Amino acid sequence: MSVRVLQVDDSAADQLVVRRALERDPDTRWTVEQVSTAEEGLERATASIPDVVLMDFHLPGMNGVELLRALRGRCAERVPAAVILTGTGNERLAVEAMRSGAQDYLVKGSFTPERLRQSLRAALETVRLARALEARRLQTENAEREAREALAVRDELFSLATHDLKGPLQIITLNAQLLRVKLPAEVMTPALTTRLSSISHAAMRMGELIDQFLVATRGREQLLHRERMDLAALVHTKVRELELMSNRHAFHLNVKGKDFMGNWDPKSLERVLDNLLSNAVKYSPAGGDILVMLAADTTALERQVRLCVEDSGLGIPPEDLPRIFERFHRASNVPTSIAGSGVGLASVRRLVELHGGTIEVKSQPGRGSAFTVMLPQDMPVDTVPQEVGPGPEQDAR
Ligand code: ADP
Repeated sequence: MSVRVLQVDDSAADQLVVRRALERDPDTRWTVEQVSTAEEGLERATASIPDVVLMDFHLPGMNGVELLRALRGRCAERVPAAVILTGTGNERLAVEAMRSGAQDYLVKGSFTPERLRQSLRAALETVRLARALEARRLQTENAEREAREALAVRDELFSLATHDLKGPLQIITLNAQLLRVKLPAEVMTPALTTRLSSISHAAMRMGELIDQFLVATRGREQLLHRERMDLAALVHTKVRELELMSNRHAFHLNVKGKDFMGNWDPKSLERVLDNLLSNAVKYSPAGGDILVMLAADTTALERQVRLCVEDSGLGIPPEDLPRIFERFHRASNVPTSIAGSGVGLASVRRLVELHGGTIEVKSQPGRGSAFTVMLPQDMPVDTVPQEVGPGPEQDAR
């Protein structure tokens, strides 16, 4: 791996110290670019953003804080890591620079080559983690925005159903009733009476169906309430439930790790598990092994849990894999005898992303599929609950 360092320092001696320290590093290949003024530094950084900027605090015409600010303006889409070099007695200024976005500072003349490399590596790692967290935050924000947009569409459908469909129905019912009362007795044959009643009856029935649809859809509306919960307990319960229902499959639950507590919405995760587990059963009609794996998969970035549901069933053709999480998409190898609507996995992905997580699938046709969900454990518990909707996306199984 090669790391691009841009050193902005007007002292040739300090430039030499840095070049030597980095060129002799056995572990990392540093590409060192050196300039002596802030203007040159900004130009270089704008032309091609370096991984890390090592800057002297006192540069002619510009101090470290100003240079950092200018860098942020120029490299807005990918601000590089920054380490400040300062003279003895100027630590207060260096701390000020750190408040303005630098990750570390070193006092000139008092650091070893190894300390310099460590400082640069740590600054790079801090920036990498911050970017990853930002990407995660954006992902969650997008998932929440999509959920809100979907809710808005649903609300529009509600008002369409209530006003635009029920209004005309009322007119049909009223007119049918009116005709029955107002038509002269000699015109009102028994056949006509029956027809008018059947119009009223059909219109009323349709009104009832619209009401049922509204209630059913509203009933599925759900709030994402994150709370401390134990995923391992939920997985155990769900696997056991399914075990009782299917005698053609052998379930294996493999738990690696101890701490599966996280800030999640239990109802949503139950839906995720229900969908993945019932798909594993449904798409392995000949029976076979279903392996559920739960592992604490903590990274430097965060504590997270990995949940994998693996079956040895039909599998998914490679050409369907990229679209498998799209709403209404069903793979080409699904026989007509296996019923489904193609909305379960879309809902699963949305719920997982609302939790700041990811879902992936690996599959080989004829051999089986493995769905892997990663869930960060420490996303903050909501103060204001986010809505998850709309209902029709929920699998109707
Ligand atoms: P549905 O099962 O109602 O069709 P889903 O959204 O749950 O909808 O799944 C979408 C499609 O993904 C399915 O139609 C099927 O083609 C494929 N699929 C999902 N899970 C599996 C699985 N475990 N094995 C094989 N194919 C699967």
